[in-house]
Amino acid sequence: MDTIWLYQFRLIVIGDSTVGKSCLIRRFTEGHFAHVSDPTVGVDFFSRLLEIEPGKRVKLQIWDTAGQERFRSITRAYYRNSVGGLLLFDITNRRSFQNVHSWLEEAQSHVHPHSIVFLLVGHKCDLEAQRQVSRQEAEKLAAAFGMNYVETSARDAINVETAFMDLTRQIFELVRGGDIKIQDGWEGVKSGLVPNTVHSSEEVTKAGRQCLC
Ligand code: GDP
Ligand code: MG
Repeated sequence: MDTIWLYQFRLIVIGDSTVGKSCLIRRFTEGHFAHVSDPTVGVDFFSRLLEIEPGKRVKLQIWDTAGQERFRSITRAYYRNSVGGLLLFDITNRRSFQNVHSWLEEAQSHVHPHSIVFLLVGHKCDLEAQRQVSRQEAEKLAAAFGMNYVETSARDAINVETAFMDLTRQIFELVRGGDIKIQDGWEGVKSGLVPNTVHSSEEVTKAGRQCLC
C-alpha cells in the first residue's frame, strides 16, 4: 500500500533573532525567499514531507519561534516535544556564533527527560565577503558538540534540502535502531501508515499558527 508518511518528526529552529530562521524554514517548506514578518505571540508551524529512502516518507513538523527568541521566552513545551533541532548562527555575525553555546544550554535545560538531535547551521553563506566565522572554526565547535555542520543560504537556496535531509536521516537511524522511542504524550516522534488517498500536494506544505503559552 502506498503511504503518505511513516513517521512524523517534530523539529525546532533556534538561534539569535535575525540569523534567518524564518527565511530558512520558508525556503524549505514553500520554496521561495520571502520577507517574513513575525507575529508577536505564539509559534508558527510548517510541515513538509521528505522521502528519505524510496517509499519511506517522513513528515516534518517544523516550529518557528516567532519572535520570542528576542526575549528568551520560549516555552518549555517547545523544547521538550521536539526530537530534532537546527541551531542557527549567521556567518556574518560573530555574536550569533558565540551565542550558540547559550542556546544549546537553554535547550538542554528544558528538554528533560528527552533529548534533541541538533545540527549546527552557519546561515547566509551567500554573504561570503562579510564572513566573520570561518568554516573550520564552526566545524570544530560542531565536532565538540558531537553535531554535524552545514552552511546554508535561504536567499540562494544553498544546502537547504541537505540540512533538513541530514538531520532527518540522523533521527530516522536513531528511531530505526531503537535509540529514540515513540512515547505516548510526547510529540517528538509519531508513527503512522497513512494511505495515500488524499491529494498529496495538499499535504506537502502546510502552515499554521498555534499558541504554546
Ligand atoms: P529570524 O529572526 O532568525 O527568523 O530571521 P529572518 O528569517 O526573519 O531573517 C532576518 C533577516 O535576514 C531578513 O532581513 C532576511 O531577509 C535575511 N536573510 C535570511 N536568510 C538569508 C540568507 O540566506 N541570505 C541573506 N543574505 N539574507 C538572509
Ligand atoms: Mg523569525
